[in-house]
Amino acid sequence: MDVLVVGAGPAGATVASGLAQAGLQVTLLEKAQLPRFKACSGGLPAKVRPLVNLPDEVFDQQVEDVIHRVKFTYRHQDPVMVESEDPLVYMVRRDRFDHALITEAARHGARILDGIEVVGVDPAGPRVRVRTTKGEFAARVVVGADGVHSAVARSIGQSGHEKLGFAFQAEVPMSPSALEEWRGTVGGDFGRLPHGIGWVFPKSDHLSVGLLSFTQRRGWKREELFEFLRGHDLNFNPDRTRVYGHFLPRWHGQNRFHEQNVLLLGDAAGIVNPMTGAGVEAAMRSAHIAVEVIRDAFWHGDDRLERYSQRILREICRDFLDVRAMAKLFFSFTHLSYQVGIKNPKFSKIAARLLTGSMDYSEVWAEMLKATVAPNRN
Ligand SMILES: Cc1cc2nc3c(=O)[nH]c(=O)nc-3n(C[C@H](O)[C@H](O)[C@H](O)COP(=O)(O)OP(=O)(O)OC[C@H]3O[C@@H](n4cnc5c(N)ncnc54)[C@H](O)[C@@H]3O)c2cc1C
Repeated sequence: MDVLVVGAGPAGATVASGLAQAGLQVTLLEKAQLPRFKACSGGLPAKVRPLVNLPDEVFDQQVEDVIHRVKFTYRHQDPVMVESEDPLVYMVRRDRFDHALITEAARHGARILDGIEVVGVDPAGPRVRVRTTKGEFAARVVVGADGVHSAVARSIGQSGHEKLGFAFQAEVPMSPSALEEWRGTVGGDFGRLPHGIGWVFPKSDHLSVGLLSFTQRRGWKREELFEFLRGHDLNFNPDRTRVYGHFLPRWHGQNRFHEQNVLLLGDAAGIVNPMTGAGVEAAMRSAHIAVEVIRDAFWHGDDRLERYSQRILREICRDFLDVRAMAKLFFSFTHLSYQVGIKNPKFSKIAARLLTGSMDYSEVWAEMLKATVAPNRN
């Protein structure tokens, strides 16, 4: 076996697909039975589309709503609407979306084995040894795409577990007429939890509603989420609403994402947007980088794997430096930032450009400064 991938999320499925397409022998191990559930609201910013290894017709089948409007609020008040003729966000259900990606990886020749949990990896020696609940495997390269509590990251001494956020999410069934109000629109709310956001995402027959805090990780309860739902006037029965709690990593400045022949991707690498908690884009971006670096290493020698951490830093984390600084400022003075930043007439265009990928976070500072100093100039 050339490459062993751990985890069947968007990172693992994408890297397995790309490497199998490149002609390498790839095996993917997943601890759950597939298709598996993943606590996630399934909002994909439009700029993610080119990173998704699915033919158009398969991708379109996954999309439950195409978002053209984002409605921001501060504790349910003071709405600001971001609108665009171009799609801003695609709504998917993660169990189905991830399964489509895995099916595509298998179609390209990757061997997918579910119900096998990886316990640890040992990179010393000519091949990386991988211990699992069903025996031992060995491969020239191992890719850890096993999520926020990554066993692979722990094994190579690179877990960033002290920096976790926590989210509660509810799937709220809705009648078609009640859903109509949210068609094509997502809600984003600030100010309910410290360093946190709330969201309302429409799916075909329900709303995914969630609340996340990066600092208040203990001591808050699902009742806080119910309060948030009530604030949106959503008609729900707490006893019949499925609520999930889940941890999220947050990029906190780490700069190494591999050790010898073991690479970390997506949540396992801790590369999640430090402001919004969104991680599918970075998971897929890291997978594409891993495909290029591993392919190169198979041609030119394993020391080329060193380039993986450098590229993640340059192509993903450089943007996160700006996001992290913005998040720190924004959440230290959330109400003021909302008034000055989000309610600024120029914000709408900036937010739309960030979601569609025609602007990087590094450009936001200059744009916001211009908008604050001369708000009426184009
Ligand atoms: C409540 C919530 C809402 C979110 N909403 C959004 C959103 O709307 N948009 C967005 O972009 N991001 C969102 N995120 C973040 C997003 O879900 C993650 O960033 C994304 O799933 C990361 O993908 P991944 O492939 O790295 O890991 P995952 O999707 O977590 O996949 C990891 C896989 O590895 C498997 N695994 C774990 N341990 C082992 C092991 N030891 N052996 C074998 N297999 C293992 C798991 O079962 C899983 O299938 C949300 C997160 C939460 C918690």
